[in-house]
Amino acid sequence: MKVLVINCGSSSLKYQVLQMEDESLLCKGLVERIGINGSVLKHEKIGQEKFVLEVPMDDHKDAIGHVLDAIVDADHGVAKSMAEIEAVGHRVVHAGEKYACSVKITEDVMKALEECTDLAPLHNPPNILGIRACQELMPNTPMVAVFDTAFHQTMPAESYIYAIPYEYYEKYKVRRYGFHGTSHKYVAERAADMLGKPLEELKIITCHLGNGASVSAIKNGKCIDTSMGFTPLEGLVMGTRSGDIDPAIVTYIRQKENLPQGEMNNILNKKSGILGISGISSDFRDVEAAAAEGNYRAQLAEKVFAHKVRFYIGAYFAELNGADAIVFTAGVGENDMNMRDIICEDMDALGIKMDLVKNKVRGKETVISADDSKVKVLLIPTNEELMIARDTVALAND
Ligand code: AMP
Repeated sequence: MKVLVINCGSSSLKYQVLQMEDESLLCKGLVERIGINGSVLKHEKIGQEKFVLEVPMDDHKDAIGHVLDAIVDADHGVAKSMAEIEAVGHRVVHAGEKYACSVKITEDVMKALEECTDLAPLHNPPNILGIRACQELMPNTPMVAVFDTAFHQTMPAESYIYAIPYEYYEKYKVRRYGFHGTSHKYVAERAADMLGKPLEELKIITCHLGNGASVSAIKNGKCIDTSMGFTPLEGLVMGTRSGDIDPAIVTYIRQKENLPQGEMNNILNKKSGILGISGISSDFRDVEAAAAEGNYRAQLAEKVFAHKVRFYIGAYFAELNGADAIVFTAGVGENDMNMRDIICEDMDALGIKMDLVKNKVRGKETVISADDSKVKVLLIPTNEELMIARDTVALAND
């Protein structure tokens, strides 16, 4: 069975086609600048040169039309006709409290997603556009929605309720939701496999450290806490997001700088984090290079980032009453051995002992802790698309 996985942003779209019998990747691609001058599709059939198409793409339907053409193309395609694509899995950011797992898409589901738009005004509308476009172009193909928030729906109330007047939860559903759920779930399942134990018997702390970053505490396969909150702004220091700050700072800076409505939101989401502290870049590679040359703010950015990850690991150790494993994943977690070292340094009191030689590795499933480390430290490349495709296979023909 071939499955198409789609992840729609406001002006971009990522996709993959997977052959689910052996879970192999057949092709992947990216459309950028949808609805903007210079639209471009970059398509890669695995093992072949990239195919690039530069034509105007006015909207998501246009873009998905070109993606489908590429998928069935005689030269760089991976299917003879669209009939071979038996199901489509869509990544959807926010399902509010409505869904704790993936669902087959029906009109009721679409209505629920539209109701969640208030909660994710930047993310859910393009996700919805992508689904609608696929429904028009592939009217008989079953579609499944896989939510970033779903995995975290098992959190107990004490983890997700904010200490603000309760009426805001009741009236507006202001609570912690958490994101990156598909990634946290995937690496937790892989960790259980690597440890050779059932997930239901393990306590795992998963660190998804990419441009966006979050940590989750997973007990017996269920998420009991996560660092992102009502929006992805809360928690760790990220590429351009501040993570946790004292909320009073918002009004203070707004007044001091006489900022227009909405600007603080922009500053905290786009100009803060690693970029804000270092003043150099949101990319850890640039910041690390500058830090190595002695740049104080770059060094500070790295330290503040690591401090916050350590802070959450410690907190989740307490919440879980210990942990069997800590997992590192996503761009920084998978590639940045130096950052993993700094994060796990001097944690022997928690039973964490890194093997600095084993840790000199990137992008590969492996154990990076010392043989006598009580807590195993694992490096697991995330694969959200595979997770989406698996759920799609499970639900498409329900
Ligand atoms: P993601 O959001 O998971 O795609 O991760 C993107 C981030 O990973 C980028 O901001 C980079 O800073 C970081 N990254 C990728 N490769 C490396 C590397 N070799 N060393 C350090 N950071 C990296």
